[in-house]
Amino acid sequence: MKIAKVIVDVPAKDTDREFDYLIPESLLGWVEVGSRVGVPFGHRTVQGFVISIADHTNTTFKLKPIGELLDLVPPLSPDLIELAGWMSKRYASNRILTLQAMIPTALKGKAKRYISVNSETQEQSAAESTKSKDSSVPRSIHKTDSVLFDLPEDNETFKVKNEIIRYVRSKEQVTLDHLGKRYPEDADLIKELLRTGVLQENQSIKDKLQKKTLRSIDLAVSLEEAEAALADFPAKGKRQKEVLSYLIEMSSFLPMALKEVLSGLQVSAGTVKGLEDKGLVVLEDVEVFRDPYKGRHFTPTQPLPLTLEQQAVYQKIVEKLDERKQGVFLLHGVTGSGKTEVYLQTIQRAIEQDRQAIVLVPEISLTPQMVERFKGRFGDQVAVMHSRLSGGERYDEWRKIREGKAKVAVGARSAVFAPFEHLGLIIIDEEHETSYKQEETPKYHARDVAVERARQQGAVVILGSATPSMESYYAARSQSNDEFAPVLLEMPTRALGNELPVVHIVDMREELKDGNRSMFSRALHKGIAERIEKGEQTVLLLNRRGYSTFVMCRSCGYVATCPECDISLTYHQRSNNMRCHYCGYAEVVPEVCPDCGSEHIRYFGTGTQRVEEELAKLFPGVRVIRMDVDTTTEKGSHEKLLKAFREKKADILLGTQMVAKGLDFPDVTLVGVITADSALNLPDFRAAEKTFQLLTQVAGRAGRHQLPGEVFVQSYTPEHYSIVHASKHDFNHFIREELKHRKILQYPPYCRLILVTFSHEQLPLLVRAAENYTRMLKEQAGKRGQLGSLDKFSADALDVLGPVASPMARLKNRYRFQCMVKWRGDIDATGLVRDIARQMEQDFQGKDLLISIDVDPQMLM
Ligand code: ADP
Ligand code: ZN
Ligand code: ZN
Repeated sequence: MKIAKVIVDVPAKDTDREFDYLIPESLLGWVEVGSRVGVPFGHRTVQGFVISIADHTNTTFKLKPIGELLDLVPPLSPDLIELAGWMSKRYASNRILTLQAMIPTALKGKAKRYISVNSETQEQSAAESTKSKDSSVPRSIHKTDSVLFDLPEDNETFKVKNEIIRYVRSKEQVTLDHLGKRYPEDADLIKELLRTGVLQENQSIKDKLQKKTLRSIDLAVSLEEAEAALADFPAKGKRQKEVLSYLIEMSSFLPMALKEVLSGLQVSAGTVKGLEDKGLVVLEDVEVFRDPYKGRHFTPTQPLPLTLEQQAVYQKIVEKLDERKQGVFLLHGVTGSGKTEVYLQTIQRAIEQDRQAIVLVPEISLTPQMVERFKGRFGDQVAVMHSRLSGGERYDEWRKIREGKAKVAVGARSAVFAPFEHLGLIIIDEEHETSYKQEETPKYHARDVAVERARQQGAVVILGSATPSMESYYAARSQSNDEFAPVLLEMPTRALGNELPVVHIVDMREELKDGNRSMFSRALHKGIAERIEKGEQTVLLLNRRGYSTFVMCRSCGYVATCPECDISLTYHQRSNNMRCHYCGYAEVVPEVCPDCGSEHIRYFGTGTQRVEEELAKLFPGVRVIRMDVDTTTEKGSHEKLLKAFREKKADILLGTQMVAKGLDFPDVTLVGVITADSALNLPDFRAAEKTFQLLTQVAGRAGRHQLPGEVFVQSYTPEHYSIVHASKHDFNHFIREELKHRKILQYPPYCRLILVTFSHEQLPLLVRAAENYTRMLKEQAGKRGQLGSLDKFSADALDVLGPVASPMARLKNRYRFQCMVKWRGDIDATGLVRDIARQMEQDFQGKDLLISIDVDPQMLM
């Protein structure tokens, strides 16, 4: 007796465990760890994943057997199953959700009802039929269909019933809906067949998508036989002979699409049918892969001779690859230092070792340009996975990997789960990007998942960036954290030897003093005018994320911040006060600036639309392409806008942080950042880091080719270290200063965070729940001797901030509160946070309280 332990697709906390099912005789040897199965669950059939196989069960109930096996090749491998277990523990997430995060949506099957002929009834009635000789049923039907009705019925009803049965059997699975439509007059008969058990209703898991097939033609006989048949072909069949001769000639390309043969030779389907009747050819449906890049030509590229810097880095990585043990590298290389060439050549090495590679890039940089570099080097061995592909295309790219037809997967975050068998290398380009963190459950970080997957497989991880995240850089430098301690590799110069662009900081306070109240400084205004004149292009960045507004003095740059948390206070119009979103501190908006006494203190925030209007006023007739959430909601709009800009259909590309990344336009010689402050004053402890990264990225857009580039960064706090160091392309000084701040205030990388968000329709109940939760968490941590302020420099500590109203205080008719857990050391903080959440949900059962846990959050807004 073999038992399969199955995680079922019923995402609820009571069902977040293994269920035991019998493996039926017929599926022994087929059901494996990683198999997707349909299993009975209550009165339903649900999808599930086999996570282990055992010889015995602890269940005292009678076990039900697995209903069906959904794929011949399991969609998940045992190591991905193990990885899912690790993820659900680390991110406090339901196991079924982590498993489903690993497979394409096309495989998220749902149960469908269908009608079939009841096999038991069939046999029974057949047996009875041989007994009851006086049956009115013709014998021929007994034999061929083995279905029988004892009832003496009029012939017409009888005939229809049998037709229905035969039809259902020929289709194997047909929905009730379909059957009803086919026999609209005979609903009563169908009902009766169901009631008497001749037909039955079953459930089966149906995938959202099917494989695509193509009607194809092939020779049904060997080549010699075909040639012999051709030699003495009847004189009448001239057209048939032509087809046969063509197929023989093309024999190495068979099977081929029927359509092609028909149109190529100008013959009719009847001609081919004639050959089929003679037994010379077969027509069949052959599975095809939908290739999203079909018909596109990628110019093949050869490995470039590496520069000295690249060579040194390449050597280190390859040594580790050759050891076949886990290795993590942080490749810090300035924009244009040639990181991609290093990726390509290390992938080459992995392929030579008969291993495979995954390349993760931020969704937004998955532009045709990026794909081209990988396809150009590795051709058809590359599978591309991103959200702009259709569901079917994505499924086919995934299958290419699962079936061993691809060796390199290039994709966004979820490509980290590409089902390779012998993974050698995982590359994460722009590793600092927040989009590697998934914001829905499971709230995983692809970087951490990659490191764990590499550990399982003895693979190498390369984290590449011009502006590494604090977490990665700190871990690499200190080498203290053994779970994740990358080796630092540096490439400080550009591969082609051209200079990084000159960055000018413009002090907007001076502009105001000199009477310029416009959002454009005189220098930037002049720069844009010159570009329009010369026919060169400008990129303008306005970083405005979400709703956030802060209070700032336009005379001196003073920004109101929380005295405890050092993040900027967020302006709340309704109550006319400013609040801290970490700890709840609040104060009223001052009338005059507390620093300089100026009256120019007010809340701040400009939308792209307003900038666009202003541009039209200042530069009549200027052509502007605006790229923000409003103009890019439609599928493909992002690419369309960029294409138009590349074709010089506009003078200015204006946008949010979307415009900062991965773009490469030869005629862009000016980049303007309208207010660096709006990034700097986000209520987020990473604001300075984000500002530095953004400015470095956007500056890298200018002057990448022959024409030299120029960058203007406008700011009311031009002396801020993130702006000063970004303007000098000085990562090392920036990081030193930033780490100092993080240490004083105890933020990552000096501790870790967990964000717990509560939501409910009723505010009083929600507040009570959030307060209970925080109290319980503190109590529990206190009992374990772990509660303590993190600034005491203790090794093990946990601290709770809040609860406070979430920045998005109401969403979809539910109020939201949150608390932030800071912790450090050798304690199971996630386990504690999760256990108390489960307990609370139980206490508030039936009251619809939701508690969401975000481990290592990237978005604290
Ligand atoms: P990064 O990914 O670090 O921003 P890229 O890989 O885009 O840098 O390289 C920048 C430019 O330098 C590209 O045009 C690339 O073709 C070129 N390049 C990179 N490595 C070499 C090399 N070894 N020899 C010549 N050109 C190179
Ligand atoms: Zn002031
Ligand atoms: Zn605070």
